[in-house]
Amino acid sequence: MKHIGEISGSALCTACGGCAAVCPVSAISMQENPAGFMVAVVDETVCVGCGQCRKVCPSVRSNTDKFAHRDLIHGVCLDGFVGYAANDAVRLGGQSGGVVTALLCHLLRSGEIDTALVAGFDEATRRPKGVLAETEAEVLASAGSYYTQLPILPVLKQAKGKRVAAVTLGCQNEALTLMETAAPQLVPEYRIGLICAGQNSGTMIDDICCEAGCEAPTAFRFRDKKAGGWPGAITVTDAEGVHELPNKYRHQIKPVYECHRCLLCFDQMNTCADVVCGDPWGITGKDTPEGHTVILARTEKGMALLKAAEAAGAIVLERLPITDIMRGQTVNDRHRDKVYAAKEVYEREGWRYPYDKLLMEEYIPDKKAMAKNEPKLYYTREYYLAETKEAAASLAEAKKHEKPPASVWIKKWLKKIRK
Ligand SMILES: Cc1cc2nc3c(=O)[nH]c(=O)nc-3n(C[C@H](O)[C@H](O)[C@H](O)COP(=O)(O)OP(=O)(O)OC[C@H]3O[C@@H](n4cnc5c(N)ncnc54)[C@H](O)[C@@H]3O)c2cc1C
Ligand code: SF4
Ligand code: SF4
Ligand code: SF4
Repeated sequence: MKHIGEISGSALCTACGGCAAVCPVSAISMQENPAGFMVAVVDETVCVGCGQCRKVCPSVRSNTDKFAHRDLIHGVCLDGFVGYAANDAVRLGGQSGGVVTALLCHLLRSGEIDTALVAGFDEATRRPKGVLAETEAEVLASAGSYYTQLPILPVLKQAKGKRVAAVTLGCQNEALTLMETAAPQLVPEYRIGLICAGQNSGTMIDDICCEAGCEAPTAFRFRDKKAGGWPGAITVTDAEGVHELPNKYRHQIKPVYECHRCLLCFDQMNTCADVVCGDPWGITGKDTPEGHTVILARTEKGMALLKAAEAAGAIVLERLPITDIMRGQTVNDRHRDKVYAAKEVYEREGWRYPYDKLLMEEYIPDKKAMAKNEPKLYYTREYYLAETKEAAASLAEAKKHEKPPASVWIKKWLKKIRK
């Protein structure tokens, strides 16, 4: 097959949107499947069989060696930091410490870019959408993370001829690395990456809106610092005001809507970005309500950007060992175990695997991790591939009310009696 049809047909589409960005005849559209996941769909009547889409797809196995670093799980890191936006309003509006927003504002102010590719909320579809922000006010309005799928790369076509800084997830940056050869005119000047342990189906937003009693949301935050400080609770805004949902509900629905493809992904730490930003998980003293961002400089360009933004007073930085950041994100245990558990299951089941196995190190996942990840892999795959909306809804409903295993109850009970 010359196009990416078999990728989206086998639960391997990350919804990066790279293929739709490069197709010369606009034969590819990103569409929601019955379970609410975005997938690339090829219109066979328009496709001319040029093969461009396959060249930029991070799930085409033969591409792996062109975007994957030798150290697959960590990538190249020049230095590590923890920091926050110096402006209080930017910091408060940010998901973590507002560093991404502050960097973008700095780039616009210093004239180094014309526009920033960020995420906004589409009220009509109740889904996130890619937005080109040309003013600092627009960048600020787009602060915060959407944890549901957003195929952002096709929006780069609208920025033709402009200097762009794009905020992207690991798989989107993998596609951008592949585009350096296949479609260099679309590659942004700066790639500000987000750490990413996975994204969710858009149906999660519908579930949240229903729970909050919001028919017509104007804004949505899965974790809003304005609700109780970092890490924050779910908020949905409509004409009546802001509705807040308890964190218990957030934890309950996350496993229901997680994306099967993300359970295989090695690239939590966004190895192809210039700068990578994330939450300060596991960093003692930085888990405060006002929020901090952990930061990895991956390229010289990324390092220079951080230093320039610091010198201009846009961000406050403190050096942090890279090993602390990796430990906080549980890269060497939970993340690695997840990736290799998925590889084992894929091998056993004979499912199409997205990466060149030769690039994967020899690693046997922990037995406990296998036991935890296997049921997740089977559930998310069945959910992702559900053929009708009704079938997907019934799987989600059953998952939502699934009783946790006895071990979880025992742990909770022990915690209670020890108090
Ligand atoms: C799907 C997803 C999963 C994540 N998982 C983790 C994780 O496991 N561990 C961790 O430490 N951090 C994770 N993050 C990153 C974290 O949520 C923050 O984005 C990061 O810490 C930067 O915070 P900030 O306050 O500096 O960014 P902000 O100043 O709030 O800026 C965030 C920027 O990201 C843009 N954006 C939001 N959603 C998307 C999206 N889906 N695609 C592209 N751009 C987007 C916004 O428009 C904004 O410009 C994840 C983010 C996403 C989107
Ligand atoms: S093969 Fe070429 S024309 Fe066909 S969908 Fe892919 S990029 Fe478009
Ligand atoms: S390029 Fe991205 S959006 Fe297109 S099929 Fe591959 S993973 Fe999916
Ligand atoms: S986990 Fe990987 S595949 Fe999934 S959204 Fe994040 S970077 Fe993309």
